[in-house]
Amino acid sequence: MRVVDDTYRHKGLRRQLVDLVRSKGITDDRVLQAIGNIPRHYFMDSAFDKIAYEDRAFPIGEEQTISQPYTVAYQTQLLELKPFDKVLEIGTGSAYQACVLAEMGVQVYTIERQKKLFDNNKQFAYLKKYPALKFFYGDGFEGLPTYAPFDKVIVTAAAPFIPPKLIAQLKPGGRMVIPVGEGQVQRMLRLTRQPDGGATEETFDNFSFVPMLDGKNS
Ligand code: SAH
Repeated sequence: MRVVDDTYRHKGLRRQLVDLVRSKGITDDRVLQAIGNIPRHYFMDSAFDKIAYEDRAFPIGEEQTISQPYTVAYQTQLLELKPFDKVLEIGTGSAYQACVLAEMGVQVYTIERQKKLFDNNKQFAYLKKYPALKFFYGDGFEGLPTYAPFDKVIVTAAAPFIPPKLIAQLKPGGRMVIPVGEGQVQRMLRLTRQPDGGATEETFDNFSFVPMLDGKNS
């Protein structure tokens, strides 16, 4: 069950969360504003209502998690979004990250491989607020060839390697932010596609994501 009201208590805790995320080094005001606007407690079970604004990941079922707000902010800031960018997200999960992107005025195409999590979002009324947000059930390693190319790609699960099909679906000059690594810890990378089809790579901090898995799960 979801909580469906946004009380003064929730709003107050959300302001504190924004201050905390800012104090950890996030400087993009548009990202902070999006986190300040979105009721994160809507995206998890009511059992977590009291702690929903702690800066940590929480379980959302199917052994998956809603990402830590700092991590969401960090990846979103690295994307350097422009208005109306076309963005592909791999790993919809709770749809929180997808809403942060949509709140910032971009078009979002998000893919989830777990049927149950994909279906949960169909019943989630809050998401109707974002007509620019489109949901797909599929394997993120394949991307969305029908809708490519994208200005930006964000991967929100730990990738064992850089999926070549996702690079191929970027526009020239387009960017992908992706945590890469097979162990407990992954390195955040930002790839920028070059006009010749190659990509340059920048490396950032370490994070810990749930794994990006092969194929769809019914
Ligand atoms: N962005 C999410 C984070 C969810 S955790 C949020 O804001 O809540 C990562 C998600 O990636 C999980 O839901 C998992 O099922 C999904 N995932 C893992 N491998 C995937 C793949 N190959 N394609 C699509 N989704 C995948």
